[in-house]
Amino acid sequence: MKSKRKIRVITLGCSKNDVDTEHLLSCLPDSDFEFSGEESDEPVDTLLINTCGFIGDAKQESIDCILANAGRKKQGKVGKIAVFGCLSQRYVRELPSLIPEVDAWFGARRLNPVLRWLGVSGDADGSTSRRMKPQPYAYLKISEGCNRRCSYCAIPSIRGRHRSVPIETLVEEAAGLAAGGVKELLLIAQDSTWYGLDLYGERALGRLLDALSEVEGIGRLRIHYSHPDGFPVDVLGRMASNPKVCRYLDIPLQHISDKVLRAMHRHVSGAWTRSLVERLRREVPGVALRTTMIVGHPGEGEAEFAELLDFVKEARFERLGAFSYSEEEGTWGAAHLADSIPAGEKQRRLDALMDLQRSISRECNEARVGSTARVLVDALGDGLLVGRSEFESPEVDGEILVSSAGVADPGALVGTFIDVRITGADDYDLTAQLI
Ligand code: SF4
Repeated sequence: MKSKRKIRVITLGCSKNDVDTEHLLSCLPDSDFEFSGEESDEPVDTLLINTCGFIGDAKQESIDCILANAGRKKQGKVGKIAVFGCLSQRYVRELPSLIPEVDAWFGARRLNPVLRWLGVSGDADGSTSRRMKPQPYAYLKISEGCNRRCSYCAIPSIRGRHRSVPIETLVEEAAGLAAGGVKELLLIAQDSTWYGLDLYGERALGRLLDALSEVEGIGRLRIHYSHPDGFPVDVLGRMASNPKVCRYLDIPLQHISDKVLRAMHRHVSGAWTRSLVERLRREVPGVALRTTMIVGHPGEGEAEFAELLDFVKEARFERLGAFSYSEEEGTWGAAHLADSIPAGEKQRRLDALMDLQRSISRECNEARVGSTARVLVDALGDGLLVGRSEFESPEVDGEILVSSAGVADPGALVGTFIDVRITGADDYDLTAQLI
């Protein structure tokens, strides 16, 4: 009997890396491979590390992970190591000589070379995926790469030009995920608003939503990583009328000041941004908006930062995340803009923005007390059903904690939709009771 190869895959970085890993794993036959959990410490024959190379901290985390496992290899706990993903794509010339314990280095744009290194045929860029975590939601990567050139961002140089995945392939993948118990799909990309331009000559996010809405078993579709420039407004009608399309939009805006948006090469103005937010709220009543902002970008003086705070006060985003600008080598910004704002000042601005957002988030939550919601139960924790309505995205937003008092078998509700009444609110989470 040929013994199975014991393999472990460690996935770092964003949900797009999770999807890549799940596609890769789906091509490894159970007859030849035995899978060891990401957190496990048991010895393995083969270790794959899917890395992130986006910004400083993420790069450091990937390097630390590689070095730690290089050490485990010396202890005989790991046989062969292969590294792929954004860090090795970005530093493929430097890394091999720096960490010779790694047996093979691969990029981030194609997965099949990793399969071939494992001696496996198959196409990891197809529509199959092996779920790493049994959750009722899954990420659907609708495209890869980005054609924009935001001055602070290294992603286009890592992931290449925008490539949409055909609608038929995504529908097939969605059907496979639904068959595995998935109820909610999160549509992810570097820029989901560009979807279809390369394949169909037009923005086709709306068409994709229509097609995915037909997939049996999928009850929710959620859009992430949209861009304000060229936003396909035909999607708004679908959000407002198709019960499967969440009234939720993740749209990183990064800033509002014309001066800073120009320096970022975002190709939108503050006025355009405001009008788009107003249109979203007008055409999709009750929509929850998630955005991301960058503070401390070159060109952001006190006046520009004050303008950002005023905009956040006015727009009242239900969800907002923020980062301090960090100069990324190889970007236009690193070559042409002076990163002159002291780290302490960047941190002060970040704290001020997140303090403001915390109070807005609490007020938005408090306004929902007494209302009802349809909740997808993700898990059971401490006797509570942990779930989300269409207004909460997993892993980035708050949760709805539902008492399971009086429920004979609360575990059976995991992965199902339940109706609840919101009974309490805090900064990010809500409490509720079953109706
Ligand atoms: S849209 Fe801008 S920030 Fe987003 S991946 Fe593309 S270049 Fe980077």
